[in-house]
Amino acid sequence: MDTKTYDVVVIGGGPAGSSAANDLALKGRSVLLIDRQGRIKPCGGAIPPRLIKDFDIPDHLLVAKSRKARMISPKDNRVDIPIEDGFVGMVNRHEFDEWLRVRAQSNGAERRQGTFDRFTQDEDGIRRVHFEVREDKNNISQSSVRARFVIGADGAKSEVARQTVEGAEKTKYVFAYHEIVKAPEADPNHDPDRCDVYYRGSLSPDFYGWVFPHGDTMSIGTGSADKGYSLKASVGRLRETAGLQNLETLRREGAPLPLKPLPKWDNGLDVVLAGDAAGVVAPASGEGIYYAMIGGRYAADAIENCILTGNTKNLKLARKSFMKLHGQVFWVLGIMQYFWYSSDKRRERFVKICEDKDVQKLTFDAYMNKELVRKDPMAHIRIFFKDLAHLFGLVKA
Ligand SMILES: Cc1cc2nc3c(=O)[nH]c(=O)nc-3n(C[C@H](O)[C@H](O)[C@H](O)COP(=O)(O)OP(=O)(O)OC[C@H]3O[C@@H](n4cnc5c(N)ncnc54)[C@H](O)[C@@H]3O)c2cc1C
Repeated sequence: MDTKTYDVVVIGGGPAGSSAANDLALKGRSVLLIDRQGRIKPCGGAIPPRLIKDFDIPDHLLVAKSRKARMISPKDNRVDIPIEDGFVGMVNRHEFDEWLRVRAQSNGAERRQGTFDRFTQDEDGIRRVHFEVREDKNNISQSSVRARFVIGADGAKSEVARQTVEGAEKTKYVFAYHEIVKAPEADPNHDPDRCDVYYRGSLSPDFYGWVFPHGDTMSIGTGSADKGYSLKASVGRLRETAGLQNLETLRREGAPLPLKPLPKWDNGLDVVLAGDAAGVVAPASGEGIYYAMIGGRYAADAIENCILTGNTKNLKLARKSFMKLHGQVFWVLGIMQYFWYSSDKRRERFVKICEDKDVQKLTFDAYMNKELVRKDPMAHIRIFFKDLAHLFGLVKA
């Protein structure tokens, strides 16, 4: 039995866990990062410039830079939105996640391959983390370590959350599925600089379909909260609509996405959650990487605060800081998804609204920089009235 006590054991080495481990190691804390490994996280891999800046992501990890987005309506109305002064970065998750883990390690975090199993308590009250270590399929052993604090960053349907945080089992999920295909060499249907977003009831009853460029591959996917809905058949239709049905399919994969932030992210004592484990994926867009990394950062800050003050109630600062900055945006996006993605008539209007330059600027600034534009307050007012006109059907879709 390991007798070393880590200041923090981080369970899960995705964007949330690796960011938290990196920050804590840089603060001089003893950190162990445990990750299951062996599976590439299914993900479109789109990241905003704010993430690249806040987390010092090197350019070589960006396999594509998307400089325009095309919104496509049920009636095939296409609205091209140039991404001014920047780009949406595309990462391949197996490279991106491993790079984040290696960075945490190079800054002082220890790393172990392992699958979290359960917690026990040692006689001195310190938490013991039990995990399974798999060398290969015939060689599996049990291991355990002691932790003053634990960060649960083990993704959607988090086992750490289920075992320690009240209410975690009630989380609702959307399921997202995509196919990774080999990108065509030269094809008029495919612009390697453009993200295509399809709003159509035939592709999802409550979400959207996407075609994202990834250099020599592409991610083509969709999602839905409707358990009976066949995402695989829908992606087949999307590939046909986009003229990409004959491309070689390299991988088919899917995963659940949490629908909203959990009401509690910590146990008030020694465990705090981050990323998908805490339920933080933006409604309407499904964006989760930035929010996972910022959530990992807030979890690390909250633990540092607890260590310095001795007050473990301050673990709740992780959620508080997050919701202060992003709670309002999540709320607005939730309403947007509920309203605009509920029928083809409304989707048609939604894409029509996106023709508006004010809407384009506000939406993209909010996505790219994670801040609502303050430079032009009149834009908000103009959009408010235009939105009302669309809602009451005063504008022809
Ligand atoms: C199909 C799809 C497309 C998406 N596209 C995008 C996109 O384009 N842009 C975007 O921003 N977001 C996207 N998302 C959301 C995004 O992928 C997630 O929000 C993000 O990965 C969350 O990061 P995380 O670190 O919290 O969790 P994860 O990335 O899920 O990482 C969890 C880690 O924990 C490990 N783990 C799990 N269980 C255990 C265990 N018991 N013991 C030890 N380790 C464990 C896993 O190996 C993994 O490394 C997409 C999601 C899906 C499903």
